[in-house]
Amino acid sequence: MITLADCQQRDATDPLRTLRDQFTLPAGVIYLDGNSLGVLPNTAAARVAQVVTQEWGQGLIRSWNTAGWFNMPQRMGDKIAPLIGAGPGEVVATDTTSINLYKVLSAALHMAAQDAPGRKTLLSERSNFPTDLYMAEALCQERGFTLKLVEPEEIAASLNADVAVLMLTHVNYRTGAMHDMAAVSAAAHAAGALVVWDLAHSAGAVPVALKTAGANFAVGCGYKYLNGGPGAPAFVWVNPQHAERFWQPLAGWWGHATPFDFTPDYRPAPGINRYLCGTQPILSMAALECGLDTFAAAAPQGDMRALRSKSLALTDCFMDLVDERCSGFGLGLATPREHAQRGSQVSLTRDNAPASSGGSGAFAIMQALIARGVIGDFRAGDGQRHLDILRFGFTPLYIGFEDVWHAVEHLRQVLETREWTRPEFNQKHSVT
Ligand SMILES: *Cc1c(COP(=O)(O)O)cnc(C)c1O
Repeated sequence: MITLADCQQRDATDPLRTLRDQFTLPAGVIYLDGNSLGVLPNTAAARVAQVVTQEWGQGLIRSWNTAGWFNMPQRMGDKIAPLIGAGPGEVVATDTTSINLYKVLSAALHMAAQDAPGRKTLLSERSNFPTDLYMAEALCQERGFTLKLVEPEEIAASLNADVAVLMLTHVNYRTGAMHDMAAVSAAAHAAGALVVWDLAHSAGAVPVALKTAGANFAVGCGYKYLNGGPGAPAFVWVNPQHAERFWQPLAGWWGHATPFDFTPDYRPAPGINRYLCGTQPILSMAALECGLDTFAAAAPQGDMRALRSKSLALTDCFMDLVDERCSGFGLGLATPREHAQRGSQVSLTRDNAPASSGGSGAFAIMQALIARGVIGDFRAGDGQRHLDILRFGFTPLYIGFEDVWHAVEHLRQVLETREWTRPEFNQKHSVT
């Protein structure tokens, strides 16, 4: 049995414990939703204020040069690159994950159309994040491809001679299950397909080695584990071997080789820079930089090993405590126990009851937890294969073992007292 004292002891000897001091967290909150919106770095408020009052207020348009605004996508990209196994000059921070996915999927389909014109399938996972599937669906319609969706265990067998592109999210947003990027990329290539990875739940959470894995394209999110702030710019990487083969479809002036020549014709910038489109949100870039800088000490030169081992220890501890203390309440585990197969979150399911008796209750259980200051989130199931999910993200930068203990104790109390059945916890909001 794990005790509170055990957890306190683990915090006391945790070499990463002081990393938490880089962040401003509200008192009385155990924040287990850093996989959805990361927390506020201490430096962000003053830095954004400085950009507003000095760089904008005083510097005005001169700041594009004097304050380094113009190169922010590349500067952020170079800070992200080591965390995802990419080289300097290979990543830019820009736009949203959805938009970057559109760019790389479009390039991938172009490439496939040239190199393997007979292939007409874009393969992905049915439980991929919806925006990824929507973007893929739209592009397939436009380009005459078919989007085929399968379950994770069906991917290998589905990589047939018709598959042009395999598009996957490395760590599943619902279950936290993680693909073996190198093995899946190799299988895709062996089958003659290109592979696009979404790193939304990977960057800053687990070690990623894009280049070693031989990936073709990748996108990821700035506001989750990278702590870049709400709506932070996302990022995009293209394997340098083919970064220059195509224009991406959103060929805006920021991706032009010489934007300030103002020529009427488009000439793409070299390398990843052509994946920029238009003017960047500088205030958001400044906040993102504060988030990225919190990794300087945590992951020196992009070495994620210390963060990863703490993340695994935290998620192990949570799973074990739920087993020990919350049995008999109909909870199940949607996240693989195998270390190599999970990201940095744990998703719990709850037995489905008929809707007339409140369904799984997972939504209301999460609302009751949030009212107690334990913030995770809820993801609805489809009533069939995919159950309702209680999602808990464990960010090793600022979560400790005592937090894990208290989170599970609150969960136990909410279940034991049936606090979640109260009407106020059963009202839906527009953002879950
Ligand atoms: C969070 C997330 C996104 C978010 O896309 P936005 O364009 O930032 O809204 C996309 N894909 C995955 C897999 C995600 O987890």
